[in-house]
Amino acid sequence: MSNANAYIALGSNIGDRRAAIESALSALDEMNGIAVVAVSDLIETAPQGPVDQPRYFNAAAALSTTLEPHGLLEAMAAIEAAHGRDRRREQRWGPRLIDLDLLLYEDRVIDRPGLTVPHPRMHLRTFVLGPLAQVAPSVVHPVLGVTIECLRDRLASRSSTEYHPTAVCSGE
Ligand code: ATP
Ligand code: CA
Ligand code: CA
Ligand code: CA
Repeated sequence: MSNANAYIALGSNIGDRRAAIESALSALDEMNGIAVVAVSDLIETAPQGPVDQPRYFNAAAALSTTLEPHGLLEAMAAIEAAHGRDRRREQRWGPRLIDLDLLLYEDRVIDRPGLTVPHPRMHLRTFVLGPLAQVAPSVVHPVLGVTIECLRDRLASRSSTEYHPTAVCSGE
């Protein structure tokens, strides 16, 4: 069986947010066919959603896996459920105990009902690109053709009037 590199985002904004993220990571690592290779720092971020809700803790992790993308997403959903998440009872982008998103899976591009990879909003989110750039700075986004570090710097320079020395972004 060959191993694939995959990158995920983790978020929590209810309860013990740090414990939820750490426990989701150890549950992932304990699964057959998934190893957690690297974990970013945890950052605290403002919620982006329709309702007034608590601040998030966010992190990103690098995985090595023998699972296919759909199998990996199923494993991630099982861990969300084991951490008390019930999708039938929640509001989109509302508060949650744990959210696991599949950001990248090798250089695969997938667009199916229920699974889009690369995650379609990852390049628009500082709370994703900041942690991801710690574990995957030079990984190239297979659709946009630039590195994660480049996407992060580009987003930072867009959302501020300060000068940001941006990484050289080829492929644009
Ligand atoms: P966002 O996707 O904008 O971060 P969210 O994480 O709040 O929003 P969820 O309610 O957790 O959205 O997930 C909605 C659906 O998205 C899931 O049922 C899942 O099937 C689907 N989905 C599609 N692509 C992905 C992906 N790359 N990672 C995780 N879920 C995905
Ligand atoms: Ca394992
Ligand atoms: Ca999400
Ligand atoms: Ca999600």
